[in-house]
Amino acid sequence: MRLRNVKGSYELILENPYTIQADAVNPDNYKGLWNRNYFHNSHPIHIEIGMGKGQFITTLAKQNPGINYIGIEKYSSVLVKAFDKRKQLETDNLLFIRMEAENITDFFAPKETDRIYLNFSDPWPKDRHAKRRLTSRQFMERYNIILSANGFIQFKTDNRPLFDFSAREIKEAGWCIDEINYNLHKDGPAKDNIMTEYEQKFYMSGNPIYRLTAHRDVV
Ligand code: SAH
Repeated sequence: MRLRNVKGSYELILENPYTIQADAVNPDNYKGLWNRNYFHNSHPIHIEIGMGKGQFITTLAKQNPGINYIGIEKYSSVLVKAFDKRKQLETDNLLFIRMEAENITDFFAPKETDRIYLNFSDPWPKDRHAKRRLTSRQFMERYNIILSANGFIQFKTDNRPLFDFSAREIKEAGWCIDEINYNLHKDGPAKDNIMTEYEQKFYMSGNPIYRLTAHRDVV
């Protein structure tokens, strides 16, 4: 019997020209070099952490060819589901990294990014796991390093306890909240918004969607 050589998602990522498998590369070949070596321009860099299957970031990339996008996802098996969308994209402004976001400062130089999107991040409901939440003070400190002076973060969730935690934590980390919205789609789908896969599901089942944006007080 002949064995079929079925490639796993880890291997598919190694072969994909738009995706970096973080544990197979030297981060120093990327850190501070995204625009010079990979996008070949000096456009702003916007990233999404926990991009899932990539609907949000591929839609943004298509709409905004003058911005460079990088999607980050920790699971290979999830990230490969974004490959078809990436393939159909006719612009050259979208890359993916398969990595654990805790290591984000290994891959981005101070001030290298201009915006960070966090969409429907894992809630980690147990108190002892609070530091794993992508809006914890530990993560805010990492964002503080890699964001440019005028950069900001935008966070969406359907999880009220996580949203309230995030608002508190973000303020305590010394950031200013610009928008805090407790029902983004109150009057039908919000206009200044792109729905993620999770958001579509929660919206259809009638759950309120929460959104906030925050920037630092830069002196
Ligand atoms: N943003 C997508 C997916 C939400 S689910 C959407 O809104 O539809 C949250 C995603 O974040 C999952 O795919 C999960 O694997 C990823 N994720 C959670 N914590 C992460 C981390 N620390 N680093 C990288 N990805 C993470």
